[in-house]
Amino acid sequence: MPKSRTKQNNCPECGTLVKEPYKTWELVAPFPDKKMRITVTIFGMFECPSCGKKFRGVVSKAKLGSEGIEL
Ligand SMILES: [Zn+2]
Repeated sequence: MPKSRTKQNNCPECGTLVKEPYKTWELVAPFPDKKMRITVTIFGMFECPSCGKKFRGVVSKAKLGSEGIEL
């Protein structure tokens, strides 16, 4: 099982941990890093169940390289 590097996303208003984003999208880096890997960042939109605040956060990051996907 690959390790996933998942960030916790807390509401900026009240600090409630919001586990699931209601919407996600990927942002692919336009240039590879020194090891010729492309970083893919998955962003999410979160909605706080306590106060209703909507905010953006990083869901996870992945690096795509010649050796496959590194999470
Ligand atoms: Zn909140």
